[in-house]
Amino acid sequence: MIRQRLTSLFFPRQCVLCQKVLPEGQTDLCQSCRRDTDPYPKTKYKISFVAGWTSMWYYNGKVRHSILLYKFYNRRSYGSIYGRLLAEKLLREPLCDYDILTWVPVSRRRNYFRGYDQVELIALAAGQKLETPAMATLRKVRHTRPQSRLSDISQRKANVLGAFAVIDPAAVAGKRILLLDDIITTGSTISECARVLLTAGAKEVHCAAVAALNKEKRR
Ligand SMILES: [Zn+2]
Repeated sequence: MIRQRLTSLFFPRQCVLCQKVLPEGQTDLCQSCRRDTDPYPKTKYKISFVAGWTSMWYYNGKVRHSILLYKFYNRRSYGSIYGRLLAEKLLREPLCDYDILTWVPVSRRRNYFRGYDQVELIALAAGQKLETPAMATLRKVRHTRPQSRLSDISQRKANVLGAFAVIDPAAVAGKRILLLDDIITTGSTISECARVLLTAGAKEVHCAAVAALNKEKRR
């Protein structure tokens, strides 16, 4: 108890989206972010090889800022918060039945520099809340350029083609898979992951992300 108080004194809990210090008893999101951040709606946008997908938020404004802090400014604790919130959404609005919960891995090189795999942390926290332990099914077999630096859809597809491999095909064969990612922009990365999982014999692949671009508007 004392330790908990000391921790909150030196590391006060902040809202994961606006970074305001949260009053005691509140966790994850402040009241105004909880109220005012638009949830990502059900989408009709199809992504090749992906049976269906969902996102928690739109990738803009405070959400974008929060994810950039997480990925590039060492806000490691955000991962478990995103994971927990994403799991809460999946419990409220189930996307699919699934046998395996897994995630889009980063390359070993990027993992080494950052010190953690940002999507794995999200998946582990989501798995705890969903009572389905997240399991590694994919590995990155070559380093790719950051998708965010490529604006063209063909370039993005080419960049990730053959970049992932299934760790153990027998483990995914015949299974329904829920694949987690942090951000969905064009969907090229999750599409490629789904393609290799299906090639390895997976029955179907659904995907859930923390944030996604507004695809309906882009079309
Ligand atoms: Zn807030």
